[in-house]
Amino acid sequence: MGAWALLLPLLLAAAQAWGCSVNQTVFEIEENTVLSGPLVDIQVPEGQTVTLGPLSTPHAFRIQGNQLFLNVTPDYEDTTMLLADLQCRRGDTVVTQLNVFVTVLDVNDNPPVFPFEVKRKEVPEDTKVNTIVIPQEELAATDLDQSDILFYTLQEVTPGAGSVFSLVGTNFPALRLDQPLDFDRSQNMTLLLRVRDTPEENTVPSHSATATLVLEVQPADLRPPWFLPCLYSDPHVCIQAQYHGAIPTGHKLPAPLILRPGPIYAVDGDRGINQRIIYSILQGNVDGTFVINADSGNLTMARSVPSPKTFLLLVKGEQEDRARYSVTRVTVEARAAAGSLPRFPESLYRGTVPLGSGVGVTVKDAADPSQPLRIQAQDPEFPDLNSAITYRVTNNSNFRMDGEAVLTAAPLVQAGVFYAEVQANNTVTWGTATTTLQIQVSEQEPPPTGSSGAGGGAGDQRFSAAEMGALGGVLGALLLLALLALAFLVHKHYGPRLRCCASKALEPQPCGFDNKAFLPDDREPSWSPAPSPSPGPGPGPGPGPGGAPAEVPPAPAVPSPPTPPLPAPPASPSPPSPGQAPESSSAARDEGGPAGVRSILTKERRPEGGYKAVWFGGTVGAEADVVVLNAPVSDADGAGDSGSNTGSDSGGDSGGEGSGEGSGDEGADAGPGWGPRADAPGTDSTYI
Ligand code: CA
Ligand code: CA
Ligand code: CA
Repeated sequence: MGAWALLLPLLLAAAQAWGCSVNQTVFEIEENTVLSGPLVDIQVPEGQTVTLGPLSTPHAFRIQGNQLFLNVTPDYEDTTMLLADLQCRRGDTVVTQLNVFVTVLDVNDNPPVFPFEVKRKEVPEDTKVNTIVIPQEELAATDLDQSDILFYTLQEVTPGAGSVFSLVGTNFPALRLDQPLDFDRSQNMTLLLRVRDTPEENTVPSHSATATLVLEVQPADLRPPWFLPCLYSDPHVCIQAQYHGAIPTGHKLPAPLILRPGPIYAVDGDRGINQRIIYSILQGNVDGTFVINADSGNLTMARSVPSPKTFLLLVKGEQEDRARYSVTRVTVEARAAAGSLPRFPESLYRGTVPLGSGVGVTVKDAADPSQPLRIQAQDPEFPDLNSAITYRVTNNSNFRMDGEAVLTAAPLVQAGVFYAEVQANNTVTWGTATTTLQIQVSEQEPPPTGSSGAGGGAGDQRFSAAEMGALGGVLGALLLLALLALAFLVHKHYGPRLRCCASKALEPQPCGFDNKAFLPDDREPSWSPAPSPSPGPGPGPGPGPGGAPAEVPPAPAVPSPPTPPLPAPPASPSPPSPGQAPESSSAARDEGGPAGVRSILTKERRPEGGYKAVWFGGTVGAEADVVVLNAPVSDADGAGDSGSNTGSDSGGDSGGEGSGEGSGDEGADAGPGWGPRADAPGTDSTYI
């Protein structure tokens, strides 16, 4: 062994002198590094040559003057190890063979990449919270850098979307639902999904990528049909309408009954699905007196009613797919009424319609162009009996009547003011009455009457606003001085005597409106379905129109103004008691009452608001679908009624509806029952 130990260095020296050698055979280089010089020098003995052998990584190296060069910029994602196979030859004989290894080190030089730019996903509205809406596999980005860990964040584009959805984890990009969806509130939600290949943004190097997620909410059948107008509604709940009407005894009215607050009409509470509604009468249709049109909900008479009575009909509105339904109550009073001539409370009705309107456009109320014009005559002896009255335009082919609404009957190509005569015909008594219709056809919706104060126009403006302001200030100061002086003089001369009378001068003066839309609600008798079955029609109408002589033709001076604008009648249908002061009714109107309750439906609406309503739930076992609420007005009407009305009809209600057998009750009953409606449902009543 000792001899070998001595010999080894000698042999090595000999071998070096004999064949090629390098002083390092293994290198580590970060990818993307560009070497400026040779990788290594090769010692080549004299008489030998060095070349790259066939085992070398192709194209990776070259030999130049006995130096080994890297021929490429190394890419870890391409090759992690490069091999240079050095062969030294003497002539054709390979004398030595050397391997030089280059290990390529990974660097974060690749950005993460999402497999999509925009991902759309349909999400059913009834998806349960905590459901994974999009799985991780569909959202994960990829990064060629093997050692990179990816970090994901979510950023809302649609306001609020960030609280509806979230990622399961920073490194686990599955999208989860955090809040219940609501199709009516948000049908599309967009989020940005961002990924980074470092935990921190300011790390160098660091790369990121962004993709868009669009969640499309698909409506689900969550809500039953809603009878409109809802006394209250939000995206989930509707306090439904109940309907009231009156018919004469001994007659079979040919047309569908006119009901308050409007025709029987229900819509699918899921507006995104909007199932067709099918109507039927469940209960209360004594002797088959009524027929309901399954498609329209129109209620017509199948036979006459011989004697006064009250029908309490339970009407069902069911989705065409039969999945959900609602039930409401329709109260129809049959009253004995001799009937008399119908009467228009107004001698002139003003409407407006845009120039260029086609056929079938609803004429709007000139006083409130957001509302349809409604023309309604009354039978003074039977104010509720609007079902018996039909209307027609007698002398103008441009317009026609549709119930109490006015529609265009021809394209309107000429601007101007048009007049037409409307005839009301009581189909029971055969009495007729006429009134005049004035319709303005104009380019724009005309401003409400009386607001033309600023008619000066910019053209004749001779003073600037500042100048006028200064002038006003000076004049005001002078006026104040004059008043002070006057007050001083008056006080000096009449002092004590005036004191007692001063307050009276401030009392409001009744205003003289000639436009029905501004009139107080004395006319209400025409609207208010009397809540109690009054066998004696005499006392019934008494408090209402009874005040006006029945035979008096429609005189403008009639104190009871007619119908309010169609959809937003001030729902203060309180049958005006004879002593009712005009101020009180206008005050009620000011409180907004039913003005907030209006319909945009194409179907004719006469929302009056202010009635009890019950919302019946959908299918059995549906989640919290049975909601029973008292209308704000129900206090006087007997709150117990609607309260007991859970889910289905109950006789208890009749206590309110048909309350007070004694007709003497009627006035009082109707008063509190309907009167408060004016203010009660107003502010928070909406329906769509
Ligand atoms: Ca790379
Ligand atoms: Ca990377
Ligand atoms: Ca890399």
